[in-house]
Amino acid sequence: MKPQTITRFFDHLVEANPAPETELDYVNDYTLLVAVVLSAQATDAGVNKATKALFQNVRDPAAMLALGEAGLKQHIRTIGLFNAKAANVIALSALLLERHGGEVPRDRASLEALPGVGRKTANVVLNVAFGEETFAVDTHVFRVSNRTGLAPGKTPLAVELKLEKAIPKPYRRHAHHWLILLGRHTCKARKPECWHCPVVNECGYNAKTTA
Ligand code: SF4
Repeated sequence: MKPQTITRFFDHLVEANPAPETELDYVNDYTLLVAVVLSAQATDAGVNKATKALFQNVRDPAAMLALGEAGLKQHIRTIGLFNAKAANVIALSALLLERHGGEVPRDRASLEALPGVGRKTANVVLNVAFGEETFAVDTHVFRVSNRTGLAPGKTPLAVELKLEKAIPKPYRRHAHHWLILLGRHTCKARKPECWHCPVVNECGYNAKTTA
């Protein structure tokens, strides 16, 4: 996609939603990290439902360790892969206390060293908690980037590196949220809804749909 087209593409997304935010509920950096870890292969709505009661009492690593793995499982048992996720959340909470004074670290290497935290999770935390211009490529961002021709790539990392290179300054901070929302609500996996898409004139997808 040409630079002028990319600018118009994001201008339309800004118009539709000037300050997009994550749809995950959280109360501080720690609960954001936990919510993102829980959201792997699960919907944000499902995670929010499970964390509503959890985050009322558990808002830091020490409280999570006090709750314990069995207690955590009771809260998150409606979320896919909850056994492995509970083990990871307990282990990462212990590591946050051991290595980072109970705080969420602001650097990628320290984040990715935590159990259950991969590149995508680190990108979300760096972006949402610390305002960094990172590009978390989830299934929606991957699909939209490829379909539209914005940043085609065979792997999430290839797409991320292309987004990193292609997206100009005013849009970098919120780019991944705009792309997630576009993918979630309009450019859907099974059938994109091109007839009401804000970027229909910029998108390079050839088989555009009609209502
Ligand atoms: S025009 Fe269609 S294919 Fe292109 S981004 Fe919009 S919904 Fe997706």
